[in-house]
Amino acid sequence: MNQPLSKEQQATLAHALQVRRQALERQMALHQHDQTRVEFARDLLLQDGDDAPQRASDREVDQTLSDLDLQTLAAVSAAQDRLQKDTYGQCIDCEDPIPFERLLIEPEAERCLACQSTHETSRA
Ligand SMILES: [Zn+2]
Repeated sequence: MNQPLSKEQQATLAHALQVRRQALERQMALHQHDQTRVEFARDLLLQDGDDAPQRASDREVDQTLSDLDLQTLAAVSAAQDRLQKDTYGQCIDCEDPIPFERLLIEPEAERCLACQSTHETSRA
C-alpha cells in the first residue's frame, strides 16, 4: 500500500506546483509574443499570399503548442485546488494515495499509475 503524503512531502509538492505554474505562465507569455512577432514578419514577407497553405499549417502547430500549455496549466491549478481542499495526492478514481515519487515527477498528476493507464486506454 502507498502511504499518504507527509506534511513535508506536501510542502515540497506545493512548491513544485508553484514553480511549474510560473514557468508555464512565462512560457505562454513568450510564446504569444513570438507568435505576434512571427506573424508580423510573415505579413511583411508574404504579401502576395502564395504560401497561404504553409502559413495555415504553421499556425496549427502554434495552436497545438499553446493548447498543451493551457491543459497543463489547468491541471496544475486543479492540483493546487486539491491542496487547498486536502484531497491532493489522492487518486481521483480509486482514491488510493498517489506515490510521492510519481508526484515529484508530475506534481499535477490526478490519478495513480494504474488508473491513469486505464483512463488513457479507454479514451483511445
Ligand atoms: Zn487510482
